[in-house]
Amino acid sequence: TCGICVEKCPFDAIEIINLPQELDDTPVHRYGENAFALYGLPAPREGRVTGILGPNGIGKTTAVRILAGEIAPNLGEWGDPAGWEAVMDEYRGTEIQSYLEALQDDAVTVARKPQYVDRIPDRFDGNTRELLENTDERGVLDELVERLSIGPVMDQPIDSISGGELQRVALAATLARDADFYFLDEVTPYLDIGQRMTAARLIGELVGDDRSMLVVEHDLAILDLLADSLHVAYGEPGAYGVITDPKSVKNGINEYLSGYLDNENMRIRPNAIEFEEHAPRSTKGGDTLVEYPDLAKSYGDGEFSLTVEGGTIYENEVLGVVGPNGIGKSTFAELLTGELAPDEGELDARLSVAYKPQYIQLDQPMRVDSYLSSITTDFGTSYWNTEIAQPLQLGRVMEQNLTDLSGGERQRVAIAACLSEDADLYVLDEPSAHIDVEQRVQAISAIRRYTENHDATALVIDHDTYMIDLLADRLLVFDGEPAESGHASPPVGMREGMNRFLSDLDVTFRRDERVGRPRINKPGSQLDREQKREGEYYYTA
Ligand code: ADP
Ligand code: ADP
Repeated sequence: TCGICVEKCPFDAIEIINLPQELDDTPVHRYGENAFALYGLPAPREGRVTGILGPNGIGKTTAVRILAGEIAPNLGEWGDPAGWEAVMDEYRGTEIQSYLEALQDDAVTVARKPQYVDRIPDRFDGNTRELLENTDERGVLDELVERLSIGPVMDQPIDSISGGELQRVALAATLARDADFYFLDEVTPYLDIGQRMTAARLIGELVGDDRSMLVVEHDLAILDLLADSLHVAYGEPGAYGVITDPKSVKNGINEYLSGYLDNENMRIRPNAIEFEEHAPRSTKGGDTLVEYPDLAKSYGDGEFSLTVEGGTIYENEVLGVVGPNGIGKSTFAELLTGELAPDEGELDARLSVAYKPQYIQLDQPMRVDSYLSSITTDFGTSYWNTEIAQPLQLGRVMEQNLTDLSGGERQRVAIAACLSEDADLYVLDEPSAHIDVEQRVQAISAIRRYTENHDATALVIDHDTYMIDLLADRLLVFDGEPAESGHASPPVGMREGMNRFLSDLDVTFRRDERVGRPRINKPGSQLDREQKREGEYYYTA
């Protein structure tokens, strides 16, 4: 039980239930009668990176639009707006009051990176260089281009570059601005771990003296590294959201995962999200699904070449795939699906593969329910609802059109569509992109449960180490030189795989003593040095 119900939870144990009641207090802002209401505001602290951790649809963007002066908060009085004086009264004596005062005096400038970078090409017609030159108010373009490795796409039209490239361009465009307050709505989608850490470093270097930064991030390892303090956001997505007072990053993440906020004395989820400090899962072995031989594939005149050492994928396992971007992971996935033919080696053509690509194309003018029912006759059965629709929270989007979905909604529909196909192997490329922590945990549980109950096998490419750790039985590690050559070794156990992958990156993880979640060690710290000496980059148990 979750401590609230006396008997066993009547809801699916992983369903988020609305434990906190909508508050009686005055909201900061309400969009209209019975419309979304926001309680509390994050306080951007000068010279600091402030994080916000919480689900999508909980009011983070609303809060930022208030802090940017784009929305005048109405304190819930939408017919007769309360005005700034009343808002400042409400926050008298706090950091928010001083911030709002500066905003009123036009003393604050704001730069913002949107969450869904995929939409930038709809709004900007030109090449990367033109976009970046427009925003380079600080004259730092060359350095940002160099450190974010944007050089190769500088002269390409914005609508032709990949999501990972767009993400780095959008980050550069935002950080190049000369602002007092920067707001970054998700930094990590489509970036590999090395790029995530570079982004974190750039952000850390820019704050200082009078620049402050507010960051929404669902990759907990990166959020932990990036933020100096953290507001947790909770409530009921789409109905109301509450933003807590700032917490230390460590406590904020731990309380969020545990489902209980200490200071607020508030249970926000019936159950905890647990990162057991498990020794890596034992390799199950078992029956062979496919044995693939050595493979080779190159593009153009060998501009990029991939070599894959032959290996075995077992039935009923989840194989995690890790490695930097541009190294051939998607190419390997497409060799498995048969979309690409290898130059050398041959794959068993009888293997049926369901594939969710990294960049999701869902642009048919069709409702979600019609789309999903066109994929499986199981659509709507109680088994399909329990195993797929419920954990992926599809209830709220079923009647919407595919073209109207947000990035996180598209991701969940695409995962559902992939798992709904009848296949031997499910290949999911970056299922974590744009979905929040809660949804990641539920997607993990859906993928694991599905493979276990259907003797199915999944291959999951992802850069969120938490997700890979929770999900995978074994790892397929890619290395090489991005955009030049890639190499995949045969699948190995989690410990060996993490060690190989993280030693290439020179990053070690420790475990938080309270909830067991993996945290990135400071480079050169005692633990970092010890773990490197022992060759244990991830699993210390
Ligand atoms: P988040 O950034 O946490 O995903 P948002 O602040 O974008 O959340 O949205 C919170 C809620 O407010 C959503 O349910 C959204 O539909 C609603 N909302 C956002 N903007 C408006 C608006 N202009 N009018 C009415 N409702 C809105
Ligand atoms: P990853 O999935 O590891 O990011 P990819 O397999 O997508 O890597 O790409 C590996 C390299 O091959 C990249 O440099 C990419 O630009 C290049 N590439 C991918 N597809 C093609 C293609 N169809 N033609 C030419 N080059 C390609």
